[in-house]
Amino acid sequence: MRGAGRTAVVKALLLAVAACHAQAQSPPTQAVTWPPIVDSHVHLSFDPVGDELARRGVLAAVDLAAPEATLGKPAPILLVQAGPMLTHGGGYPLDAWGEAGFGIGCDDAACVQTTIDRLARERARVIKLALDDDGLAPPLIPIAVAAAHADHLRVAVHALTDASAARAAAAGADILAHTPVEHLADATVAAWRGRAVISTLAAFGGSDTTIDNLRRLRAAGVTVLYGTDLGNTRDAGPSADEIALLAQAGLDDAAITAAMTTTPIAYWGLDLGTAHLVLDGDPRHDARQLLHPREVHKR
Ligand SMILES: [Zn+2]
Repeated sequence: MRGAGRTAVVKALLLAVAACHAQAQSPPTQAVTWPPIVDSHVHLSFDPVGDELARRGVLAAVDLAAPEATLGKPAPILLVQAGPMLTHGGGYPLDAWGEAGFGIGCDDAACVQTTIDRLARERARVIKLALDDDGLAPPLIPIAVAAAHADHLRVAVHALTDASAARAAAAGADILAHTPVEHLADATVAAWRGRAVISTLAAFGGSDTTIDNLRRLRAAGVTVLYGTDLGNTRDAGPSADEIALLAQAGLDDAAITAAMTTTPIAYWGLDLGTAHLVLDGDPRHDARQLLHPREVHKR
């Protein structure tokens, strides 16, 4: 490299040094202590990145489908586990990404009942049902919900369509594991009042319809929990894409921060001890502060 090329490089270097110097002279930002981040929809058996999550401030997560043998096993972060999701024999996700035990196929009430009771004994803390065309047969949904509730477990449903979301609400399910991607009827939105939805907007491409569903569910009084579907997505940390899409759905920085931290900690009853983050600024004024914690203190 010589001549004009070298001059340009030197100029660029000088500019970079000047920028760095200016940054060093600006007053230090006020550090803020904040509770850890919770991702309410992950698959850590599919993508075992718990250590990386911990480094980046995600100190708890809800694993919404994993092989049964993982239940109760130690993990790098605090996990609420579902174990395998219930589906029909050979149904989703057994016929897709989850063939290695991420689902259990049940085609009658006895199977549903014994499976849920067994998962409860194995320390599952939430039951996940695959619905839609390739999931658990509709007549088995109320049976599954009743079995889980009898075991004091909440029920999360994979329900991307309006029909499934409506059926799940009628059966008494507690949580939409994803924001449905098909336009929800007003009656379906209203039926979910007082329950919860896990966002997962980025995992499904964040269409206008999906974003509008989340906006309407929230307006109807549905609790929004931040979730990424990590495993099916591959961004092992707090997701900038999910934050941006939550903002499009009408959540301000304080609401996004709550959905990522305080709301799921309360909703799932998580005991994180003294674990906390140190941030460069108040996330309630800029939720993106959560993307780059200055310090992560585990319990
Ligand atoms: Zn998932």
